[in-house]
Amino acid sequence: MYIKLCSLFSGSSGNATYIGNDKTHILVDSGLSGIKVKTALKHIGVKPDSIGAIVITHEHTDHIQSAGVLSREFDIPIYANEKTWEQMEKRLGALSPKNMRLFYNDMDFYIDNINVSPFSIPHDAADPVGFCFYYRSSKISIATDLGYTNKKIIDKMKDSNVVLLEANHDIDMLANGPYPYHLKRRIRGTRGHLSNEDAGGVAVELAKGNVTHLLLAHLSEKNNAPNLAHETVSDYLRSNDIAIGEDIVLDMTYRDRAGNVYHIG
Ligand SMILES: [Zn+2]
Ligand SMILES: [Zn+2]
Repeated sequence: MYIKLCSLFSGSSGNATYIGNDKTHILVDSGLSGIKVKTALKHIGVKPDSIGAIVITHEHTDHIQSAGVLSREFDIPIYANEKTWEQMEKRLGALSPKNMRLFYNDMDFYIDNINVSPFSIPHDAADPVGFCFYYRSSKISIATDLGYTNKKIIDKMKDSNVVLLEANHDIDMLANGPYPYHLKRRIRGTRGHLSNEDAGGVAVELAKGNVTHLLLAHLSEKNNAPNLAHETVSDYLRSNDIAIGEDIVLDMTYRDRAGNVYHIG
């Protein structure tokens, strides 16, 4: 009676997350090659042909690269909202109509026995979303690729057992790093990505909102470092008297490999 979560890959080079239980197996995004995603699934003991749905956050390539390939190979339905479909349909290649499924933001739907609840987030894509997943008394939330958070987004993620949250860049590393000015501005902007400092502030709110496990995600390769992201968010938590490892467990996800597998419930 558990639900499992595992970040298979996370970062600007590609994203895929597994969520499932003994009956239902879901991929959130499939933004690397099909071979990489299949290998990562097998590595955590999930048969790729058992995946029952691919749910898409937004149409950027690092989230959709192999969604079409996997849908064709294993006859998997892809779920996205209308504006995201408009942007990605041609890029995914020919799909069976029955595998092109719509969801609506702020309207829950079910994939077998898992309830999926998409919510809007601010990012420079057509209609980007984060997701909450509910199974029995367990809740998992995912929010990466967002320029800022507000009360609505934070409230949506409260009471999650696990939250996968973006900590994209260190503000100083980005400012002094190799990216051209327009890209730096885009990343820092309200439709860009959360910094480590932003994630730290959100982490405090989530810890106060009964979230017990926080995974930092979508780290930039050039503008961040795992230990720096972990340290920055830890500092925010400590300075708010939140005990790491007791009040909240802080963990990382990785660009090139799967992170820890969480069994919840
Ligand atoms: Zn991304
Ligand atoms: Zn994006």
